[in-house]
Parts: sequence; structure tokens; C-alpha cells
Amino acid sequence: MSQSSREDFDITIIGAGVVGLAIAASLSNHKTFGSSKILVLESKEAFGTGVSSRSSEVIHAGLYYPRNSLKTKMCVRGNRLLYEHCNRFGVPYKKLGKLVVANKDELDDFEALISNAWDNGVSGIKRLSKSELRSIEPSVCAEEVFISRSTGIVDSHSLMKSFLYQLSHHGHTYVERTEAISIEPIGNGFELNLHDCSKKKPEPFCITSRSVINAAGMGAQKLTSQIIGYPAAKIPPQKLAKGCYFGYKKKNPFNHLIYPVTSKNPNSLGIHATIDLGGQLKFGPDIEYVSIESYDVAESKKEIFVQAIKDYFPSIKVEHLTTGYAGIRPKLVSQTGSSADFLIQEESSIQMKGLVQLFGIESPGLTSCIPIGEYVCDLLEKSLEL
Ligand SMILES: Cc1cc2nc3c(=O)[nH]c(=O)nc-3n(C[C@H](O)[C@H](O)[C@H](O)COP(=O)(O)OP(=O)(O)OC[C@H]3O[C@@H](n4cnc5c(N)ncnc54)[C@H](O)[C@@H]3O)c2cc1C
Repeated sequence: MSQSSREDFDITIIGAGVVGLAIAASLSNHKTFGSSKILVLESKEAFGTGVSSRSSEVIHAGLYYPRNSLKTKMCVRGNRLLYEHCNRFGVPYKKLGKLVVANKDELDDFEALISNAWDNGVSGIKRLSKSELRSIEPSVCAEEVFISRSTGIVDSHSLMKSFLYQLSHHGHTYVERTEAISIEPIGNGFELNLHDCSKKKPEPFCITSRSVINAAGMGAQKLTSQIIGYPAAKIPPQKLAKGCYFGYKKKNPFNHLIYPVTSKNPNSLGIHATIDLGGQLKFGPDIEYVSIESYDVAESKKEIFVQAIKDYFPSIKVEHLTTGYAGIRPKLVSQTGSSADFLIQEESSIQMKGLVQLFGIESPGLTSCIPIGEYVCDLLEKSLEL
């Protein structure tokens, strides 16, 4: 992209995380938008280094969210589409299945969760007896258990690469180290003020775009505050929910992902056990609201983790844990204090036709990325009356 002359694009996507890239792939394959001139901008030195680089990489099934929420619809559909996509593009994954376990004090929550999963139309859910549990996971202890067979894990970096491949295969443009600083609505679209961050001193330049998609993850609200004329009161407040992980020093004893029922904190999935594609076991994430972006993992949390994990894995000890990593979920919180739904909106109602904004794309955002791409295409198509 040339900095000297102002270039015009049809659609500009700001943010090259898994969601921005999935949107770019959907647009590239779209019957109408595929022939448009599409640009993806990323402020960092590489794609997928934001929220998308710090997830559990779990392909969720859609057990937890309210029935008619976007999270449920997109997660349930995304689960199926993601496996199909992985098969088609050679993205590594494993459909390990997940066990949801409950102790004696959690039986009501267990019943509520399994019936929510059925209501949500999740496939592959089955109660297991204690002897079935013993035969498939001898180290796990539980009063009640069900299996979610469609839960799995995916190599999220390869997934993002496969989306980027589709973008470039269709001749569209991806640019790194380029930050969107502000956006100004103009006659028939938007002017974007950008910084070329590859230089020692960032160099400003402008492009225009008929449509703009704000997929900036944790930066979505900050970017919206720099859209000239956008009502500040309309920007949804964001809470940063940090989650820490600890690794496991000993040989992984599990064959499935193990999740306790989430009775203690409805905003997190409890201190669960996940396995990566290399077979390594890790525990977490927990949840802690923070005011600044920091990724340190406090050693002192080990004791708290062990107390929680003991409920389903009694032989765990503090000395078995190794310090892992942390991620931050960009959460929207409802008035009751519980996690709110994804917020994906086209802004014609405030005379900003062709602007699509994505807020609160926390978990299950990775699982939902392909349906999010489809949804954004639909919103754009309707707004442009194609
Ligand atoms: C701890 C944790 C565990 C999770 N586990 C799972 C899981 O197991 N399964 C699941 O389905 N989901 C999971 N998620 C959720 C999932 O990771 C996210 O929903 C998803 O990665 C969000 O992707 P994104 O593209 O919206 O954001 P990001 O990956 O953050 O991408 C946004 C990009 O925009 C760029 N950007 C920001 N501002 C600008 C600007 N002004 N100009 C240019 N570029 C800009 C950023 O640098 C960034 O690269 C987890 C999340 C966390 C934090």
C-alpha cells in the first residue's frame, strides 16, 4: 500500500485477530463482496498477537449461554463449521470431547447446565455413570458427569493462516504495523487516518473506504471513540477480565477436557483442565477484573488453583503446577453483572451506513469466528441494499 498517494478501498477491516481474519475470508468468498477491493489492517507486527494469541484453543459446543443469544447461535453453528473448515484447509485439531463434572453440592447446577445444553440443540451430550467415568478417566472424581462429544481443540494460529490464505488467494490486501488512528464519515463512506508504525516515528497517511469493520478486539471501544461524530454514550463499556493458566509438570493423566460445573462464578467456566495439541495439560483460566492490560501470572495463585482442581482431581499438589500464561477477555457486562452477549452492529441508524462494529468478542469468539464472518456479510449486504 502506497503512503504517498491516497488509496481507495471498498471494505476495510481493522484488526487481524481470528475474528477480523474470519470476516475477511467470508467477504473474500462472498458472491457480491468477493470482487470488492478489501483491506485488512493490523497495528502490531504480526496477525493474531492480540486476544487470539492467549486463548485455550477450545472448540466449544455451546452448553452455557442463553438459548437465543448470539453466543449460542454462533457457537453451535461455529462448532460444526470449524471442524469442516479444518478438514478442508488442513488445520490441525482434535475432537477430544469434554467431561462436565459435579460434586454433591453442585447437583442442581449440573441439572440446569445439561438441560440448557439440550435446549441449545448441542449434539453429542450424554450422561455417564460413575463406572463409565472410571473406565475413561480413572483419575477424575465426580458425583455426576456428562460428556460433550463435539468439544475439541484447534491450532488457532494455523486457523488464522488459513483465513489469511483465502484473503490473499482472492487478491485482497493485508497490511501489518498500520494502526487506525481515527475515522471520519465522508460523503459515501469513510476516510481513515492511519499510522505506519514500521517507521521509528509513526508516519500518518489516509485512505478511504466505502465500508469499515471495527474488529479491533480489546481496542474496539478506543477506536470507536475516535470516529468523528460517533455518540460517546453509545459506546458499550468494556471490562477487562484477566485469566491465568498453570501448566502441569507430571505426565498428563487425562484423555478429555475436564470442566467443573460453573456454580461458583457464572462469568467464568471454573478452573478447568484443557489439553493442547502436543498433549500438554494446563489448568485455567481463572477470572480477575483488571484496569490495565498486564499478563503477569502470580505464583500465589497456585494454592487457589489447587483448592479448586482438587474437587475433581484429588491427587493434584501445588508442586505439580508450573507458571503458565495469561489472557484478557474483552467483556461487556449486563446490568445484572453477568456476562453480556456479543454485540455486533451496523451503524446506519446514526447515519454511518457501512460501518460495522464488534464489541465484547470474548469466549466463545474463536469457535464462533466463521458464523461471525457470515453475520457481518449479511449486515453489510442489508445496509448497502445489495
Ligand atoms: C483467556 C482466554 C481464553 C479463551 N479461550 C477460548 C476458547 O477456548 N475457545 C473460544 O472459542 N474462545 C476463547 N476465547 C475467546 C477468543 O480468544 C476471542 O474471542 C478471540 O480471539 C477474539 O478475536 P478478535 O479477532 O476479536 O480479537 P484480537 O485477537 O485481539 O484481534 C484484534 C486485533 O486488532 C488489532 N488492533 C486493535 N486496535 C487496532 C487499530 N486501531 N488499528 C489496527 N489494528 C488494531 C490488535 O492488535 C489485534 O491483533 C478466549 C479468550 C481469552 C482471553
